[in-house]
Amino acid sequence: MHIELPTAAAQLLQALHAAGHSAYAVGGCVRDSLRGHTPGDWDLCTSATPEQMQAIFAADKLLLNGAKHGTVAVVRGGKAYEITTYRLDGAYSDHRRPDRVDFVPDVHQDLARRDFTVNAMAWAPDEGLLDDFGGQADLAAGVIRCVGDPAARFAEDALRILRAVRFAAQLDFGIDPATAAAAVAARDTLQTIAAERLFAELDKLLAGPAAGRALARCGEILAGAVPEIAPCLGCAQGPGHIGDVWQHTAAAVGALPAVLRRDIDPDGTLDEKQRRVLRWALLLHDLAKPACCRIGKDGHIRFPGHNRQGAALAETVLDRLKAPAYLRGQVPALIAMHDTPLPDTDPAALHFLNRCGAQGVQALCCVKLADLAAHARTPAVQHRRQEAKRFWRRVQRLQNACYTTARLAVNGADALAEGIPAGPAVGQALQGLLERVMDGALPNERGALLAALAGMAQKPPAKAGPQP
Ligand code: ATP
Ligand code: MG
Repeated sequence: MHIELPTAAAQLLQALHAAGHSAYAVGGCVRDSLRGHTPGDWDLCTSATPEQMQAIFAADKLLLNGAKHGTVAVVRGGKAYEITTYRLDGAYSDHRRPDRVDFVPDVHQDLARRDFTVNAMAWAPDEGLLDDFGGQADLAAGVIRCVGDPAARFAEDALRILRAVRFAAQLDFGIDPATAAAAVAARDTLQTIAAERLFAELDKLLAGPAAGRALARCGEILAGAVPEIAPCLGCAQGPGHIGDVWQHTAAAVGALPAVLRRDIDPDGTLDEKQRRVLRWALLLHDLAKPACCRIGKDGHIRFPGHNRQGAALAETVLDRLKAPAYLRGQVPALIAMHDTPLPDTDPAALHFLNRCGAQGVQALCCVKLADLAAHARTPAVQHRRQEAKRFWRRVQRLQNACYTTARLAVNGADALAEGIPAGPAVGQALQGLLERVMDGALPNERGALLAALAGMAQKPPAKAGPQP
């Protein structure tokens, strides 16, 4: 077993060893290397104190904002390597911040304060692997297990409860039953954690390759972070669905990567923000179903109004989690529309594109297809999937068509020149032309549009007055 350290990390370890200290690569980079993945960051730990590190790396650029907690970042080759003094976390009287950290000389004490066995391994070129808690075996078995007594570890730091699910989603691991049971029991202490930290963990979780499976298994735990999840657990649905509202939600999140790859974005052009919008929209899309559940005369369960109420609920959740503004704007808008029927003519599709924009329509198609992929394969569901795919193909075919006033073959100056009075009438005239172009009643050709403008100038549009 050998870990290939980047040259800079190996040199940092060497410099610490040469100065008489012990030092190791530790945590995520060891875990990921053992899984055969290339780590993003290389975190190091050492017996040297921050002051000693500053002396050893006096010639380097150092970042010292974490020095109080033992972390000095050394910048080599434009990359920051965090080196942290072995430490014990003191008591956590508030479930989230150690009251103080104590530096210790022994790496084994430092490993014992880490959250999960797979994150509690250290490696150095001369000594090889330090694995005090069976991290390698858990890595091989695919298990997230607390170091030590899970209840005590979650009582020290409630964020670990959510980190357990996050790592399960990122690594496609299960959670050890004792760790999972302690996480469920302590889930409400997640409410003591800062909203931004909850958001960051949930966001990483959703981006994990096994997010769907982790959500499906860990709903009870996650309800501690987002209490609106609790009523979804066990909330029955009608035919056409597989499982309860939460199982469906988990399956919809899980279906997203394949829908993107296969149907919506095979070239991988969507950026991370757009992907994040989709993940959060799918996580929250059916949150209002429990509150909207009605049994119809036919005996079937339905959820009238869950779109609109779900949008409001999603906004509440995202506000509470202090999510970025673009999520708070786009996610509720998508949820409000996730169940609306899709148009099946070119003019109606163009009007849709005009209202929602190309990106909005793409996102809606994606949410719909992932939502439908998480349904049973009944003929009705298959029909809706075909409908959504047909709409998406139509939208792609129409991508260069005229559905914004900016694409008209005339502009505001032309409208003025044809006698439209300056002011809001110009925009109204162009929008009027656009509607007729989208409806196929006018070609998007300069001559035809100028003539139509001249006609409008002679016959000004009726002023909008108060409704009778
Ligand atoms: P990532 O790839 O997401 O960075 P990581 O394992 O490096 O994964 P970090 O959050 O960067 O995760 O934490 C680095 C290491 O610090 C972890 O591997 C773990 O050993 C330890 N750690 C981090 N947060 C906690 C915590 N709340 N409680 C105990 N140990 C923690
Ligand atoms: Mg890390």
